[in-house]
Amino acid sequence: MANSRPRSTYLAAALVRRRGQNLYRERQVLASPQGAEVRIGAQTLLSFCSNDYLGLANHPQVIAAFKQGAERYGVGAGASHLISGHSLAHHALEEELADFVGAPRALLFSTGYMANLGVAASLMGRRGHVFEDKLNHASLIDAARLCQARVKRYAHGAVDKLESLLAAANGEKLILSDGVFSMDGDFAPLPDLVAAARRHEAWLLVDDAHGLGVVGDSGRGCFEHFDLALNEPAILMGTLGKAFGTFGAFVAGSETLIESLIQEARTYIYTTALPPAVAEATRASLRLARSEVWRRERLREHVRFFKRGAQTLGLKLLPSDTPIQPVILGEPGQAMAASRHLREQGILVCAIRPPTVPAHSARLRITFSAAHELAHVERLLETLAGLPGMK
Ligand code: PMP
Repeated sequence: MANSRPRSTYLAAALVRRRGQNLYRERQVLASPQGAEVRIGAQTLLSFCSNDYLGLANHPQVIAAFKQGAERYGVGAGASHLISGHSLAHHALEEELADFVGAPRALLFSTGYMANLGVAASLMGRRGHVFEDKLNHASLIDAARLCQARVKRYAHGAVDKLESLLAAANGEKLILSDGVFSMDGDFAPLPDLVAAARRHEAWLLVDDAHGLGVVGDSGRGCFEHFDLALNEPAILMGTLGKAFGTFGAFVAGSETLIESLIQEARTYIYTTALPPAVAEATRASLRLARSEVWRRERLREHVRFFKRGAQTLGLKLLPSDTPIQPVILGEPGQAMAASRHLREQGILVCAIRPPTVPAHSARLRITFSAAHELAHVERLLETLAGLPGMK
């Protein structure tokens, strides 16, 4: 009793260690909506770090639909989908999402994280085998952990390695992959993944959080980008908190798959349905994402312009043509210093450090939005040119 130290002593020591390694994480407190510019404290900053790719998070029509949804349905769903929380708003959104992505059915989940966990755990038991790209999002990593299947990871994009792992496994198989990789911005080799899944009788869950709404001429995501039909063995997971500017997620697939998830997916069953007003807001943003093609075109122009400028500056980019443009700096301290420098110049870009990205690949993760003007991209490039070590 006399010698016992409070448990938090250990936590405090870990926090000190973390700070010393430049790995301490801190939140920015926004006092404004997402947009090309955001307010933090007394500062207005030009922001290149949201996932509001189409600039819809603060769109008047989306806000109006949200308000009308709240007037009609109240604020909280009040129950899970299977009890009494599944409203007309949710139902209509599911139908519209299925129509958008070209799948027979879609099922809403409260977050993308939960959707990934729910699909993996429903499809795979302990005897199953899960295959993961090494750069998959944390929610796909945790999805495999939750189902307790045997997990094999393959080097980023290495379909040949995946093929040999698939060939060596017996039993139920599930391949998990980002569609557009969240921290690198490149595409998964989707046609090859689909072919491998077919050949080895595996499911393929594609997390298109960063492709949906953004890539493909109609914004249908990486399946459209590669001109692939969305059907078995592929399953699509899409999020609503990024290009659609709202919140939540969905899984799209066959009638049988969706009915099975309704019966089995614990992250679907045992949680409150997302607010119906969010579903109404998403219906409005989906309409905008479908009809306002200029948003995707403008994004593509920003990316092209940025890449040309960054190459002239000699910045180390990755092979990404999406609005996720990482500038690789190396160690966490370097990424933090660059982010601080930009902030002092009025530009908000987040430093991404391990374990979110592999060791020695700390980076600035620059993201573009249709809310940006070309002049904003020019200002970003001018400021990057002034980074210490650039001159
Ligand atoms: N998958 C990927 C690739 C993501 O980037 C994210 C969000 N960062 C998620 C899933 C989780 O989605 P949500 O925020 O809806 O939980």
